[in-house]
Amino acid sequence: MIGVVLVSHSKALACALRDLTLQTAGAEAPVVVAAGAGDDHEDLGTDALHIMEVLRPFCEGDGAVVLMDLGSAVLSAQAALELLDAEGVPDVAAKIRLCPAPLVEAAVAAAVQAGTGADLEAVAREATLALAAKADQLGGDDDAAALSPGPETTPDAGAVTFDIAIANPHGLHARPAAALVRCAGTFDADIRLTNQSSGRGPASARSLTGIGLLQVRAGDHLHVSIQGEDAEAAAEALKALADDNFGEGETDAEAPVVPPAISVTGAEGPRGVGASDGVEFGRPLLLASAVPEPDEEPPASPEEERRKLDKALRVVAEDLGASTGGEASAILAAQALILRDPAVLEPVHARLSAGGVSARAAWRQETLAIAKAYAAMDDPYLRGRAADLRDIAARVSAALAGQGPVTSIVPDPPAVLLAEDLLPGEAMACVPGAVLGVVTRFGGPTGHAAIILRGLGVPMVVGAETVDLDRLSQAKLVALDGGTGEVWADPSPEERAEIEGRRQTFVAAQAKLAVDKDRPAATRDGARVEVLANVGSVVDAVAARDNGAEGVGLLRTEFVFLPFRERPTEDQQAEALRAVMAALGPGPVVVRTPDIGADKPLPFLPQRAERNPFLGVRGLRLSLRDPAFFASNLRAILRAGHDRDLWIMVPMVSTPEEMAQARAAVEAAHQDLEAAGIPAGGPVRIGAMIEVPAAVLTAGRLADLADFFSIGTNDLTQYLMAAERGNTDLAALQDPLHPAVLRMVRETCRAAAAAGRHVSVCGDAASDPIAATALIGAGVRSLSVRPAGIPAIKAGVRVLDAGTCGAVVDRAIAECGAAAEVRERMRAVLSGAAGDGLSA
Ligand code: PEP
Ligand code: MG
Repeated sequence: MIGVVLVSHSKALACALRDLTLQTAGAEAPVVVAAGAGDDHEDLGTDALHIMEVLRPFCEGDGAVVLMDLGSAVLSAQAALELLDAEGVPDVAAKIRLCPAPLVEAAVAAAVQAGTGADLEAVAREATLALAAKADQLGGDDDAAALSPGPETTPDAGAVTFDIAIANPHGLHARPAAALVRCAGTFDADIRLTNQSSGRGPASARSLTGIGLLQVRAGDHLHVSIQGEDAEAAAEALKALADDNFGEGETDAEAPVVPPAISVTGAEGPRGVGASDGVEFGRPLLLASAVPEPDEEPPASPEEERRKLDKALRVVAEDLGASTGGEASAILAAQALILRDPAVLEPVHARLSAGGVSARAAWRQETLAIAKAYAAMDDPYLRGRAADLRDIAARVSAALAGQGPVTSIVPDPPAVLLAEDLLPGEAMACVPGAVLGVVTRFGGPTGHAAIILRGLGVPMVVGAETVDLDRLSQAKLVALDGGTGEVWADPSPEERAEIEGRRQTFVAAQAKLAVDKDRPAATRDGARVEVLANVGSVVDAVAARDNGAEGVGLLRTEFVFLPFRERPTEDQQAEALRAVMAALGPGPVVVRTPDIGADKPLPFLPQRAERNPFLGVRGLRLSLRDPAFFASNLRAILRAGHDRDLWIMVPMVSTPEEMAQARAAVEAAHQDLEAAGIPAGGPVRIGAMIEVPAAVLTAGRLADLADFFSIGTNDLTQYLMAAERGNTDLAALQDPLHPAVLRMVRETCRAAAAAGRHVSVCGDAASDPIAATALIGAGVRSLSVRPAGIPAIKAGVRVLDAGTCGAVVDRAIAECGAAAEVRERMRAVLSGAAGDGLSA
């Protein structure tokens, strides 16, 4: 197959274009990127050597069409061909075609054509014609007219013919047209299309550009004329494709072109994934509108305002660059492009040059006007950009006002927040009661925003990708079920009654569980199971105390430090930690040193961009690279917890060497404080988080260096299953009940028992009654759970028989291949034992 190579000054731009192209041409389309400059190609520029390496395999294969953006991209591509020649690679000129075509249109047209198996000539021609449809649509371009399909004198002689009424609401736009081209490409017959409603055509069904020039709209009649040996078969296939509305499925030709107001409804509509239990109603509110607007200041000189704008854009670009991984990172990278987009910046600059307006006012007026224009568009993809623009506009606006990340979100009146994705800092800022619930298009249930909201008891639905946020925000009332992932827009009276029933059932179940929340939990056969809390804020600490926590099994210091814009001093850290500890009840407190990186960036600790942040410098790896900050963390923890039963643990331990270094750092911090006469408590226990498979497999050796283990099932599952925890697409692989994960948990418990070490689970699995049943079966006797979930976990423990759990888990590990099977078995164990819906 012929490849399509995108040469651009910007890797982000080329990658985004590749995504767009694949959406139209299909995921298998041979589109590759040769973009950017610098070691990791993240700098703006082009690099002939890099382009050469990308092109090399195509010289050995069928060949490639190369599409370039501006000026020096062309020079670099030419240089790459010369380099290949100089290296003696054969057939370079015959295999590689540099194409003078518009990058975006040509990429889509060429990729679709390549997907049909067309040769280099045909693909290059499609690319070259790609602008014709747009030029024609905008009127009177001579070149376009020359390229448009010409009249045909005897179109149907000896041909198989039929007509199709187009029912697709947007006509034959790029995706259905691409489906048509792909289908036509599988036959030898010559397939010609004429738009009878407009008189345009005929055009070849193998040409995306040709179909574009037909300008086929909803309700138009398309005349199809097929000649050739396999004409009958082609006709059957095209009719079937047309019946399926060219891959767009059910659609209504009579429907208005604007899509339905809301794309989610409860049980019947597409839904997200339940990420934080609870059922709530409320007015919808976009996250961008929920963040308080700072007061306006009088404008300075145009130059000064321009300087402020440039600085704010830089700050936000750095924040976005430092952020996260996976899906969210792709969104943020796309948002970062907006910060450099001349279509956004030029009108703002023009306003500033005219004077009398602040950078913030000019920025807001222009960006919100563009967002409004996007929101009014028919194309759902473009409408989605409105939310991006609002989001980025709010970030820049906050930076212009000198504000750090948002610290408090208190909608008045209370509301259900709607967001593309929620950063941990934003989740932390949500005030329960004012934020009734949260619906996001991206993110997963074990992402940190979800963890924080669960801790706060705020219902959340994540991964509702099909939701059109702008339109959902126009509903009068939104309801969500954070258990099932359902979302309703303007529910009918009957639906409201049903949702209210669910809400009351949930509240009543919580109240019932609360009766026994302060009693310690043991299984029916006498295995004592300690139930601790995961906390990351004062609010969590209060909730832990109120829900009957026996102590804290995980204090996430990175959450405590999230509000700091500048690197906090040791004193500031100690004070923030003391505030959390002061709100806790009695019992041990396991404080984890900062787990920064991947999806938990902290604004004051910028990190180098990494290709795979979850596999990069995060957690202990980052601490060991910044010994001064690490030492300040440790001293602050020791000072804040000197009068408590303090345990310290380190995240993301991969090797015994790292553990030894961490241990030495804790001991050094303790000695420093003692030498300075500062109370640092008794010798603390120093533990390792077990969340990297290598740590499980070397647990025996780690036990020589660690006083205790805490299993982080969120990361352990992610790393074991190679399934990023924030990626909604991989939900099935992220279930910690996969037999491989349970085997790791069992191994860790055995290694801990052999070495006489305490072991706990602080990953989210501990908060899920069904998963907790399996953990107990795997040998776990200490669970650290989200505060609001403590009563349910204790209640679950009390009905179980640890011996039965152990036998079922052993069998499941031996017999099951998938998490779903294990989950079913554990559900049966729990509901058989409880019979009261605990496992629902
Ligand atoms: C875990 O990975 O299970 C864990 C508790 O750590 P975190 O979720 O904070 O990464
Ligand atoms: Mg972890």
